[in-house]
Amino acid sequence: MTEQHEISTNPYDDDKLHEECGVFGIYGHPEAAALAALGLHALQHRGQEAAGIVSHDGRHFHSHKGMGKVGDNFSSEEVIKSLKGDAAVAHNRYATTGGTVLRNVQPIFADLANGGLAVAHNGNLTNASTLRRQLVAEGSIFQSTMDTEVIIHLVANSKKIKVVDRMVDAMHKVTGAYSLVAVTSKKMIGMRDPFGVRPLVLGKLDKAYILTSETCALDIIGAEFVRDIKPGEVVVIDESGLTSLSPFETPPARFCIFEHIYFARPDSVLENRSVYDVRKDIGRQLAIENPVDVDAVIPVPDSGTPAAIGYAEQAGIPFELGIIRNHYVGRTFIEPTDQIRHLGVKLKHNANRAMIEGKRVVLVDDSIVRGTTSTKIVQMVREAGATEVHMRIASPPTTHSCFYGVDTPSRQKLLAAQYSIEEMCKFIGADSLSFISLDGLYVAMGEKNRNTDLPQYCDACFTGDYPIGLVDHESGSDQELTLLSEGS
Ligand code: AMP
Repeated sequence: MTEQHEISTNPYDDDKLHEECGVFGIYGHPEAAALAALGLHALQHRGQEAAGIVSHDGRHFHSHKGMGKVGDNFSSEEVIKSLKGDAAVAHNRYATTGGTVLRNVQPIFADLANGGLAVAHNGNLTNASTLRRQLVAEGSIFQSTMDTEVIIHLVANSKKIKVVDRMVDAMHKVTGAYSLVAVTSKKMIGMRDPFGVRPLVLGKLDKAYILTSETCALDIIGAEFVRDIKPGEVVVIDESGLTSLSPFETPPARFCIFEHIYFARPDSVLENRSVYDVRKDIGRQLAIENPVDVDAVIPVPDSGTPAAIGYAEQAGIPFELGIIRNHYVGRTFIEPTDQIRHLGVKLKHNANRAMIEGKRVVLVDDSIVRGTTSTKIVQMVREAGATEVHMRIASPPTTHSCFYGVDTPSRQKLLAAQYSIEEMCKFIGADSLSFISLDGLYVAMGEKNRNTDLPQYCDACFTGDYPIGLVDHESGSDQELTLLSEGS
């Protein structure tokens, strides 16, 4: 087993226990690590801060992890060759604010009583701090601040014998959203939380099985999409094939609607719907609800593009690439400080003056979070000579933070939590601003409307209706951790 480590003396140097990420596991292929690296490339949008792969060759585990993008860490043949074996589990980490250190990079590996276990996790546990405190009081020594490590300790402490039973036992103690992929010396195990908040799909490549966050990671290696892992389902893959277990009670599913709006790649199919189609339908609905008399529909690239196409088609207004995105800089939202985020927005987008000058335009983006992007873009488009700048947003106002694995700032920093739409419009400097309605969003998702008694999706970021208990948040333990991370 080869590991590269950077030891930090502050155990709380990552200020959140969030894991917003992409996962990829493969079992039964001689090129497991190379395929895992390709899978991570396809999932790069789900996390750009760090990447890791752990493989197993029948005798030993091998690991390579590093800060930065997949290409920064997995482009050398030597590294891929060192990750021997037919099974591998891989992870892309999404940045949260605060310092991130290598020991917080997944997959996380542990040598347990009954053998090694490597785990990659996408989601966020809502009682991780509470559990962590209990575990520490009982003598557990944590190596990282990841909530995934809480899972490892719970597995280690379980009185069950088999690793799958120990994992199920552990997951009965946690609350939150999780899609997990684990590799042991003999098996690959996949688990999705009972509400099915985060995605997890099953694929096949010849005889090999794949478990990954999105179908685009299957496409990149030519694997066939088999099905979504069901909410609350546990799949165990070993030499004898795949076994599906249902050890958890499953309430009605609440898949994250924001995966469809923004987070997933548009060429993925999630929960039987093409993400691209959904986004176009959202754009169409947005145009029906919020028409405007303009000369051009301009997407805020890339996140607003499919919705802008739908908007333009519905409205019968020309679609124009009035903003050009520089693809060689990362996502602005992920930059750790407000200062850098500002700089990032300037680096990322440029107005296409030839398309804009003298025109009345409507800009379409997927969401407004802090308002940084919209403010910059509106100003930039005005400076390029637009005579009117209207803004249409392909999601309802983001009024609440996500606790289930999409990194959003605290409520105080959410523009829509602080201001009315009219005030927001003034803040971003647009001539008009409107959002798709909540019911309209559900219509675009193929529903009649939002079922208020039993919403079909998790839409907590727009409604504050959190389907899974926010144990740490309500008890203040998440704050406790943030304060510790700041050294207070
Ligand atoms: P802001 O500039 O803070 O208003 O953020 C809005 C922009 O960030 C939009 O253009 C979105 O495409 C993007 N965005 C929204 N939510 C997220 C997220 N959770 N992670 C990264 N980017 C996001």
